[in-house]
Amino acid sequence: MKNYGFTSTILHNDRQKGIEHGSLHKPIHTSVTFGYADARQLASVFQGKEPGFRYGRQGNPTVAALEDKVSKMEQGVGTICFATGMGAIGAVFQALLRAGDHVVSSSFLFGNTNSLWQTVAGQGVGVDFVDATDVANVAAALKPETRMVFVETIANPRTQIADLKRIGELCAQRGILYVVDNTMTSPYLFRPKDVGAGLVVNALTKSIGGHGNALGGALTDTGAYDWTRFPNIFENYKKNPSVQWGLVQIRAKALRDFGASLAPEAAHHIAVGAETLALRMDRASANARALAAMLEADQRVAAVYYPGLKSHPQHGIAAELFKDFGSLLSFELKDGIDCFDYLNKLKLAIPTSNLGDTRTLVIPVSHTIFYEMGPERRASMGIADSLIRVSVGIEDTDDLIADFRSALD
Ligand SMILES: *Cc1c(COP(=O)(O)O)cnc(C)c1O
Repeated sequence: MKNYGFTSTILHNDRQKGIEHGSLHKPIHTSVTFGYADARQLASVFQGKEPGFRYGRQGNPTVAALEDKVSKMEQGVGTICFATGMGAIGAVFQALLRAGDHVVSSSFLFGNTNSLWQTVAGQGVGVDFVDATDVANVAAALKPETRMVFVETIANPRTQIADLKRIGELCAQRGILYVVDNTMTSPYLFRPKDVGAGLVVNALTKSIGGHGNALGGALTDTGAYDWTRFPNIFENYKKNPSVQWGLVQIRAKALRDFGASLAPEAAHHIAVGAETLALRMDRASANARALAAMLEADQRVAAVYYPGLKSHPQHGIAAELFKDFGSLLSFELKDGIDCFDYLNKLKLAIPTSNLGDTRTLVIPVSHTIFYEMGPERRASMGIADSLIRVSVGIEDTDDLIADFRSALD
């Protein structure tokens, strides 16, 4: 296929494969089991000697079409989809880590990923949290048994940006698997493959699906990691070329055995959403830039965190690596302004969770999604009690600015 741009590639990907009845969308296949020419072919598919589907939990044609699109977006060698973003992150640990292994993780993390790390730590895997905005902290935490470094591109909610490129160089030198959660940037703004990530996480629920109407997650192997350097691959999964070892093991040990499979209906919703990822990201990033500038200029706002602002500590990294600065920002109101009163005055922005929706969503972070972790861990992540997270949508810019400004008045 010709080397088309991001959106052309996604729009025409299903059709290129010559799908059923000339449908322009890959149809929603609900069948759990599949038919074969004869019993010998059944055996041959189950033994991996010819391509085909075995059972819906391990793969499905509609889901496979989405996996192919996510691979194209990330320019990876393959992708596995999961029921949720957490399903994808959980799969990394389930399939690839063993008791006695060690992981270095950014301390600036999506709240549930933070919680998952605590679980993993209780199962005999050592986890160290570091300030990953500086590669030196990551380097200092490495041990001989470190199997993986895990970071997010733009951390939610304070928007810290990992030292993405230098961490990639460090992992390459040491033969350590580099896992990057690309959810906040999406493959339209940034490809972790470009900084040497071996595995890329995308919560498809967020910008890729984009409409808050389907949950999903994906793991993409970029081909950058040499799996022959990874000690935890079972002999059984080393039959194929080594570039496939990681995904083969993840599909069997995590997707098949733990069963967080993406439903075909959800895969269809996400695939339709993905067609407009670039358009929505451009618009939401422009809105976020305008909103961040307005808030930063207002006396009643104590702090604004947005990578597009010159005042952001990692503005330089973001400008160098990302196509735009994304749709996530957060801010603190000055003392004396109650964040609940403020949120209640907003008319367009909706107080709720979720990110990467077409609609602008706001949430008082300390009192909701980061409540469970307690004040100490919140403080270590730089999360103030009054912090408001904004997932900027694609509304008309003037309407959005007016909404946030008049709620301040
Ligand atoms: C939302 C999110 C996840 C989890 O995705 P779900 O689909 O909600 O499970 C993981 N990482 C990041 C950065 C997220 O924003």
